[in-house]
Amino acid sequence: MIRTGLGYDIHRLKKGRRFLLAGVELPAQKGELGHSDGDVLAHAISDALLGASALGDIGEMFPPNDPAWKDADSMKLLDTVFARVKNEGWRLVNLDCVIICETPKVIPYREAIRISLAKALEVTTDRIFVKGKTKEGLGAVGQGKAVEAWAICLLEK
Ligand code: MG
Repeated sequence: MIRTGLGYDIHRLKKGRRFLLAGVELPAQKGELGHSDGDVLAHAISDALLGASALGDIGEMFPPNDPAWKDADSMKLLDTVFARVKNEGWRLVNLDCVIICETPKVIPYREAIRISLAKALEVTTDRIFVKGKTKEGLGAVGQGKAVEAWAICLLEK
């Protein structure tokens, strides 16, 4: 059996916050605002995995008003999500992601992000891909006020 899952997230950008993508910190003027560490890619991937396995969504698992998740490491949240997905017998076939922001440039960090995700999701890096896009100056993301991420995964069992 195979299942696809789609995940999306957006976080505002603010001075004094870290800019994290799948646990990899990128040098940046502003970072992701969030109740957790704000790692937009970890959140989108968590939702893709939960969607494919029909186990819920990240907001249900880690409610943003719960003090337990204040400043939480989102890669630990992803580990928790993936443990539940694995517990249902699923394995990751592949994961593809798009990160949308004006700055910083994502591509120089692509390999570090792929390695981080391959480790977390127990696959080789050839099953993980990450692309960087901008919004060509349009909208909140284009004005450098936010970062978005999309993720699609395929699971099998
Ligand atoms: Mg989020």
